[in-house]
Amino acid sequence: MIRAVVFDLDNTLYDYDHCNKIAEEILLSVISKEFDISVSEAGHLLKNAKSNVKRILGDGVAASHNRLLYMQNICEQCMQNPFRYAMKFYDTYWDCFLEHMTAFDHVIPVMDQLKKRGIVIGIITDLTAHIQYRKIAKLGLQDYIDHIVTSEEAGIEKPGRRIFELMLQKMELQPEEVLMVGDNIKKDIIGARDVGMHGILFERNEKDMRKLILDFIEDKGEKDV
Ligand SMILES: [Mg+2]
Repeated sequence: MIRAVVFDLDNTLYDYDHCNKIAEEILLSVISKEFDISVSEAGHLLKNAKSNVKRILGDGVAASHNRLLYMQNICEQCMQNPFRYAMKFYDTYWDCFLEHMTAFDHVIPVMDQLKKRGIVIGIITDLTAHIQYRKIAKLGLQDYIDHIVTSEEAGIEKPGRRIFELMLQKMELQPEEVLMVGDNIKKDIIGARDVGMHGILFERNEKDMRKLILDFIEDKGEKDV
């Protein structure tokens, strides 16, 4: 019997790619104005900043996605004082990103149904807790979600076992009682199945995600009775 559904956040509950594209465009135009460089030069700085931060930290840790570190690195590449610009760039990106976020159509109806059935809801996500909390608030999901585990908290990203095991501990459930829903096969689905959870891949062209999740839960419930 399924007692909990755990969702990935980015690109599963809302369109990350769309928000990121718009926010990076605004960010690059602000960097280009502040540093009197072209937008494409600003793009190179951002690309270098991401690879510099990931090279220092290694892949698979939450801080390797921290955009304040990218913005600081951009300032360092340009020999500019990060205290003058990094927070401004950071806020430019995230303010724009959050402004464009809306939950996919199926999200609230699915969560409503899960709550009505007494099913626990969790989020497992690869990033620092602070910004993921802001996203969840913007999506209006805070009252639906019972538990969250971020890669910052687990010290490892999906598909590492620890991040899934930590969620099971918080929920006090066995893995076979939990369904993971996410857009990334390797991180979300294989990661969940490796610890014994069930997994459903979220695909953009899936017309009725709500039905897919609820049918899966009903099917499991009947089999176990
Ligand atoms: Mg995702």
